[in-house]
Amino acid sequence: MGLNLAQKIIKEHLISGEMTPGSEISIRIDQTLTQDSTGTMAYLQFEAMGIPRVKTKKSVAYIDHNTLQAGFENADDHKYIQTVTSKHGVYFSRPGNGICHQVQLERFGVPGMTLLGSDSHTPTGGGIGMLAIGAGGLDVAVAMGGGPYYMMMPKVCRVVLKGALRPWVTAKDIILEVLRNLSVKGGVGKVIEYAGDGIKSLTVPERATITNMGAELGATTSIFPSDEVTREFLKAQGRENDWVELKPDEDAQYDEELVIELDKLEPLAAQPHSPDNVAKIRDIGKLKVDQVAIGSCTNSSYMDMMKVAAILKGKKVHPNVSLVIAPGSRQVLTMLAQNGALADMVAAGARILESACGPCIGMGQAPATDAISLRTFNRNFEGRSGTKSAKVYLVSPETAAASAITGVLTDPSELGEAPKVSMPEKFVIDDSMVLEPAPEGADVEVVRGPNIKPFPINKALEDKVNGKALIKVGDNITTDHIMPSNAKLLPFRSNVPYLAEFCLTPCDADFPKRAKENGGGFIVGGSNYGQGSSREHAALAPLQLGIKGVIAKSFARIHMANLINSGIIPMTFENEADYDEIDMGDELVIENARDQIKNGSSIVVKNVTKGKDIKVNVSLSERQVEMILAGGLLNYTRQQNQ
Ligand code: SF4
Repeated sequence: MGLNLAQKIIKEHLISGEMTPGSEISIRIDQTLTQDSTGTMAYLQFEAMGIPRVKTKKSVAYIDHNTLQAGFENADDHKYIQTVTSKHGVYFSRPGNGICHQVQLERFGVPGMTLLGSDSHTPTGGGIGMLAIGAGGLDVAVAMGGGPYYMMMPKVCRVVLKGALRPWVTAKDIILEVLRNLSVKGGVGKVIEYAGDGIKSLTVPERATITNMGAELGATTSIFPSDEVTREFLKAQGRENDWVELKPDEDAQYDEELVIELDKLEPLAAQPHSPDNVAKIRDIGKLKVDQVAIGSCTNSSYMDMMKVAAILKGKKVHPNVSLVIAPGSRQVLTMLAQNGALADMVAAGARILESACGPCIGMGQAPATDAISLRTFNRNFEGRSGTKSAKVYLVSPETAAASAITGVLTDPSELGEAPKVSMPEKFVIDDSMVLEPAPEGADVEVVRGPNIKPFPINKALEDKVNGKALIKVGDNITTDHIMPSNAKLLPFRSNVPYLAEFCLTPCDADFPKRAKENGGGFIVGGSNYGQGSSREHAALAPLQLGIKGVIAKSFARIHMANLINSGIIPMTFENEADYDEIDMGDELVIENARDQIKNGSSIVVKNVTKGKDIKVNVSLSERQVEMILAGGLLNYTRQQNQ
């Protein structure tokens, strides 16, 4: 049986497991990327593994998220990342060089390779034919150290693009149509693979707009074949040698299929507050617009910007609209400056922002109260813009530019003939803001400002695990309860000791103090403990406080994986009623813990205070058992590398 494209790349990189959807596989990672918001922790974790040099083909650290330096914390983080990456063999893309996904596509992406990035929009690389996956910082650290990346073998959904787009209809409208069809949950556990005659007319940056927003489908990743269009793009980037042809076998099988007739599409918008709340612009009507923001890793390519400049040329931004434009990379900005397009934007009244994430990550440009903001970005969740009452519509750059001129939501086709913009034969190539790492063995001092604190590392599991039940919480405790994340705490992502002072404080303000006074112990939880985001800090902060195990009625999947990564034992009550047999302050002990965990899923926790044995389940794969015994993923990886 033939293989589809995703299966081909997975097979080529497979280290362990069966390629049957839903079973655990591990793959080799060729490239990694980090951004500054997740990067500090990833490099602290990499350092903790004790591996002197990254083992990937190429690893790049970007500074694009927190480029505002309102206090010393971000600047400290940037300095740390710059020096630690130089020491360990990672390229460093300086602030101002661009958004990680845009620059990765331009300068580093290679068809057929695997890319693991500590950012959810890493699948942008699928536009150039990479298997590009977003993951947690620790997974990326392990991959940099040469370790495999574990995931569930995905199903593969083929999206067939038929025909060609009509003028004024764009790649953004294609992915919005896919979101309208499949919803924000439709891609979970799947790779979205694009096929059909319609892909020939899409440039690499257009394909990348589509794969970028595959993250909004919840997909593992999205991918396009690597064809002549890909070759032309790489040639124009001076990287033709990186090109290889990639396509599915003629008789490839797919788990699902969706067909999209490109010539039937019209300009679309994702309405507040979800990327799949999609409607035609002309059906939404002429909403009065307050703000237009063009940029982000979804829509900030040279082609996007040139179309925007052509629409704005000789016109003026409507007096009621604030128009901000952030070209996605220094390469794009330079080319716009050289060919005069930047001057057209400025003359029209656009405000030009740094080539960075900027308003997409809430770094400035929060809309006014109740304002309507049109954005070319990928997410419009309530409050993400920085203003809870704002209504954000996700649109194409063409719709955004047209609306900036008219002051109302406008179908760009009303402007008449669509601008003709073609891909340059040669991009401006200047990688001087990408710093090469120091040669192996060079004496590089890693600069650690006061915001960079050592990262907590567990010890190998002891035979006797004991301590008090330090807190008892109810059902549906979220990672936000366990490790609150707010604007005040965000700059402290690389300071786990400080963050730990806030661990579980929404449930019990005294918990951190009690945990420290007792030298650690256990957490007792209800059902669905740890639901919510994939935040690693929700396991790191308890580890910092000495938590050895969590006994709950059930766990949210990702949080449980994060606990295991930290070497904290996740246990579920065999009999849920036993939840009532433990009170806060009870002394608990697991005798022969190593043997019990090695020998099976059912183990005994003694409640010494109440004189009662409580049976709990520890459902771990063989690999996870090894991780718990080693004291977490970092120690486990260290052992594997010895
Ligand atoms: Fe994330 Fe927005 Fe930056 Fe893209 S532009 S990486 S979505 S913050």
